[in-house]
Amino acid sequence: TLQMQLCAYVFLCSQRKEIDDTLATFALSPTQLQEVKAKMRVELERGLKKDSHPTASVKMLPTYVYRTPDGTERGKYLALDLGGTNFRVLVVKIRTGMRNSVRMYNKIYAIPLEIMQGTGEELFDLIVQCISDFLDYMGMKNTRLPLGFTFSFPCNQTGIDKGDLVSWTKGFKATDCEGYDVVDMLREAIKRRNEFDLDIVAIVNDTVGTMMTCAYEDPKCQIGLIAGTGSNVCYMEEMNNIEFVEGDEGQMCVNTEWGGFGENDNTEDIRTRYDREVDGGSLNPGKQRFEKMTSGMYLGEIVRQILIDLTKRGLLFRGRITERLKTKGIFETKFLSQIERYSSHLWHKLRSILQSLGLDSTCDDSIIVKEVCGAVSRRAAQLCGAGMAAVVDKIRENRGLDHLEITVGVDGTLYKLHPHFSTILKDTVRELAPNCKVDFILSEDGSGKGAALITAVAQQLANSIDK
Ligand code: BGC
Ligand code: MG
Repeated sequence: TLQMQLCAYVFLCSQRKEIDDTLATFALSPTQLQEVKAKMRVELERGLKKDSHPTASVKMLPTYVYRTPDGTERGKYLALDLGGTNFRVLVVKIRTGMRNSVRMYNKIYAIPLEIMQGTGEELFDLIVQCISDFLDYMGMKNTRLPLGFTFSFPCNQTGIDKGDLVSWTKGFKATDCEGYDVVDMLREAIKRRNEFDLDIVAIVNDTVGTMMTCAYEDPKCQIGLIAGTGSNVCYMEEMNNIEFVEGDEGQMCVNTEWGGFGENDNTEDIRTRYDREVDGGSLNPGKQRFEKMTSGMYLGEIVRQILIDLTKRGLLFRGRITERLKTKGIFETKFLSQIERYSSHLWHKLRSILQSLGLDSTCDDSIIVKEVCGAVSRRAAQLCGAGMAAVVDKIRENRGLDHLEITVGVDGTLYKLHPHFSTILKDTVRELAPNCKVDFILSEDGSGKGAALITAVAQQLANSIDK
């Protein structure tokens, strides 16, 4: 029996080694992280240059937001928020006084999958139907409020209220929208309904709304980060450096769309076969490769691919692949967050979470699942940190500073719910950008408040030009 025990031991060790080897492909060395930062920097520059801008993997889209709020903004606005976890319609009241204050009323609406992936007309008709319902609910059908539309997809803007959808991302794929002006599509749907009128003043990326909301409280905030369903960053860039936009004075916020990083194959060295599998099974294969390694919509899918593979190799779940494990999207961000919140000695808790997902696990299984989640989310946070290090160092160099103090406004379920993501992200930025002191502040509803603030700033600007 000693021999049998020895055999079992050797077997366990070799199993352990196989699992470790698999997870090691997700570990990034300090050198690799430096490389990611350096490559991101190159892509940021390529996106800003006239010649390389049209084909750049990091699109660096202009937003026509020239400044952050200064506290003089006021008024009552309607805001829409499409492209995050929920679709919402909001009324936002901004008041100035002793203390700035913002009041909001909102309603959440579900967008069914058939509509997200149906025709563009159906999608925009539903949006207008929701606005109609909301205006009824608020008793505001006859007040024509200025509207800010937070539309969290890449838009090629030519003005604050003009932007062609470059391509859908995340779970959306409605037909006949890509290449068309989002504001036009909304206006046409309002016309089709022929029931009320709206003044569409601004189209807003969620990163920009987040930055503006945080800047309202902290003027040092000049960067917006979303680590949620999707992944993206915006920041205040010198007009001088934005080659494809007229004018050299002052600044403009640039929506980096860093989720596209890697589309030109320059991150293949760090992608794993699991990343490729997730990409292949997505709505937009080959696109948004950085987003697919860093955002809530995909991390669970990477985990699921690893679990399937470990199971096939007999290292997990007694080698049995269940229907459940074959189901796309079972590991939502909130599950990853729950699993990683428990330390391994609380394996019975881990096990009950897996049970609730329909995965029947042993104690060992549950610990392995937790390790898999940890490897995937750690890499995601490190990659975001490396990208952020490139952004803050660029801003520091723009301003000719040896040392930069700056604040990042952040939103997103991954950042907010995950127990380790934000810590690892911050640690990575500190290591990779030692000449910058970067503070992170959570935005409170950047998509709603931010859209209103941008609308207010845009109206102030329009009024000052009229005068
Ligand atoms: C979109 C960005 C957006 C980000 C976060 C990405 O998929 O391309 O425009 O800011 O998700 O919502
Ligand atoms: Mg959002």
